Formats: sequence, structure tokens, C-alpha cells
Amino acid sequence: MSLDGTYDDGNIFAKILRGEAPCAKVFEDGEVFAFMDVFPQAKGHTLVIPKHSTGRNLLEVEPQALTPLILGVQRVTRAVRAALNPDGIMVSQFNGATAGQTVFHLHFHIIPRWEGVALGRHGGGMADPAELKTLAEQIAAKIS
Ligand code: 5GP
Repeated sequence: MSLDGTYDDGNIFAKILRGEAPCAKVFEDGEVFAFMDVFPQAKGHTLVIPKHSTGRNLLEVEPQALTPLILGVQRVTRAVRAALNPDGIMVSQFNGATAGQTVFHLHFHIIPRWEGVALGRHGGGMADPAELKTLAEQIAAKIS
């Protein structure tokens, strides 16, 4: 999907937000929702999405949704650090299929990194749901 287009509320993140699809939830407040990526590129790969935006990407998101979203990203990134003690944390966001975007509801990736551990493939293997649930609980316990 190119940078031009319209929001499709049948996308998987919209379904997760409506409770129509399962996820390992980490955190939510009135504006943002965080959950584990089911095809993680590293242990603890977490996604943060706005709850009320129909922006498919950063270019389209309503300005008023951006501040709570990025504050949510910072809050969850701090919790990931506190829970998993990584050596570094990659925060990324793709706009358009050509840039690597596969789900067209704006989202930020929070990907912990450890020295000597290679980054997994984008869209690689599916994680064990029980393991994701445990990680989600560990990260949720460190949200402050
Ligand atoms: P994008 O490629 O659009 O930047 O990121 C979409 C992310 O959503 C990918 O990292 C992919 O692994 C993840 N993803 C795709 N489908 C699902 C799903 O059904 N549940 C969860 N939790 N993550 C998903």
C-alpha cells in the first residue's frame, strides 16, 4: 500500500483494539494501547498504537493524537528497559509498504537489543503465546 490511500478499519490492529482479535496486552490508557508483537524481531518486541486515530502512518495522524502517542512510546520503552535490561532499544516506525510497513494503523515498534544478538527478520517466526504473555506481564509490572 502506497502513502496514498484510506484507513481500513478491518486491519488487524483495529480488530485488536475492538477486542475482535487476541493479543498479549502490556498497557493501555485513554489514548494509547501497547501489546507484544506476535512476530518479534527480538525478545520483548512491543508495539504502541493510538486508540482513536484513523491515521495509517505518521503523515496522516491527527496532531492531537501525536503527543499522547509519543509519551506512551516513551513510557513503554522505559518499562521495557526496566523489565528486560537490554543494552539498547530500537524505536522504529514505517510509512508505506515500500518502507516496510505491513499493518496500516499507525504504530511504533519498541525493540530491545543485546550485545552480540542479531536483530531478527521483520515478519519472521511467530512467538509462543505463553512466552509473550509472560513478557507482557513483566513489562506491564514496570509501567510507571
Ligand atoms: P509494520 O510492518 O507495519 O511496521 O509492523 C507491523 C507489525 O505487526 C509487524 O512487526 C508484525 O510482526 C506485527 N503483527 C502482524 N500481525 C500481528 C498480529 O496479529 N498480532 C500482533 N500482536 N502483531 C502482529
